[in-house]
Amino acid sequence: MNNNDLISSWSHSIQNNYGLPSIALVRGKGCLVTDADGKKYLDFLGGIATNVLGHAHPAIVKAVTKQVGLLGHVSNFYAHPNAITLAQRLKEMTGDDDARVFFAQSGAEANEAAIKLSRRTGRYRIIAAQGAFHGRTMGALSLTGQPSKREPFLPLLKGVKHVPYGDIESMRRAVSIKTAMVILEPIMGEAGVIVPPADYLVAVRQICDATGALMVLDCVQTGMGRTGDWFGFEYSGIKPDVITLAKGLGGGLPLSAMIACGASAYLFAPGDHGSTFGANPITCAASLAAINFIEKNALMIAVKRHEKHLIQEIALIPGVLEVRGAGLLIGIELTSEIANEVLVAMRSAGVLVNAATPTTIRIAPALTVTTAQINSFVASFRKVMANVHT
Ligand SMILES: *Cc1c(COP(=O)(O)O)cnc(C)c1O
Repeated sequence: MNNNDLISSWSHSIQNNYGLPSIALVRGKGCLVTDADGKKYLDFLGGIATNVLGHAHPAIVKAVTKQVGLLGHVSNFYAHPNAITLAQRLKEMTGDDDARVFFAQSGAEANEAAIKLSRRTGRYRIIAAQGAFHGRTMGALSLTGQPSKREPFLPLLKGVKHVPYGDIESMRRAVSIKTAMVILEPIMGEAGVIVPPADYLVAVRQICDATGALMVLDCVQTGMGRTGDWFGFEYSGIKPDVITLAKGLGGGLPLSAMIACGASAYLFAPGDHGSTFGANPITCAASLAAINFIEKNALMIAVKRHEKHLIQEIALIPGVLEVRGAGLLIGIELTSEIANEVLVAMRSAGVLVNAATPTTIRIAPALTVTTAQINSFVASFRKVMANVHT
């Protein structure tokens, strides 16, 4: 079956909540993917910041294959070494000996767990940011600060208020001793890779300390080495109470985590929360393989090098207003609303990117991307911009 056959079959069998896909992908290797017509693409979206080691990485293939042949699923009635080892690794990354991990499958579920954890403070009010994306389930959607996604599904959770992102005074006014938690993305991904002012997270930390509100940082998109650190907030020097991870965490498999630190690590009691597939041995094996590979190959150092190079090169291209982001999560702000045309032209040229907003191209390639692939991306982008931007 070719692209057209598959997309036509899709429309007859899959719900129309995503709109029609443009192509069907059938295989991949590293940063390359192949569609059902046999056309190859340079994948600069990485499954939306998910395939941290690219496609079909030998370390992931080996870990998953071994685990699925040994013991695929055990449920939460039993412990499994992979989940314990992974939780220990995540704990080490936080530097907090009190940290305790809850595993689930998606970003929305990790944030749902954070909402429930915060209810155990005895408070229920939540402050989130306008424009933020925290997922689509009813609780996570209540946190998401995008009216177009929320409004068809009202009423949502009560007690949630959205304040302008990056605005310290608005945050100070909104948070009180009645606030259960404040949730923020260290860099807003879906909103178009928005980086807050340098002192924002530090100020929010102080506001949370003064009121006893839990500070929750949603690192679903900015975690797992994406920004050149394990967590997207590390540039700020602060430590949140709760960290949520998903996307890259499973190295391409569905795995998420809610890591609670300090006293918040002990808010849940037996029976308070659960997930049948949580801490699945196969997804945990993939995650451990990804973490080990990132560490052994110093990929986060490479990520920081690529960041500088990409920002420098892209900023010079006519039609680019601003290049922002951290590590390999980059938003390219265009001077006009042509992001979708650029995306289509890039795809024709054999490069996959995302149009996060009508004026923003987002890229999030695998952390294993090579300098040659980055140069190839920049060359294609320059050519496309010369044609599309007039
Ligand atoms: C993608 C994303 C989510 C939601 O993750 P799902 O796995 O789609 O539920 C939540 N928060 C952030 C910051 C994200 O980028």
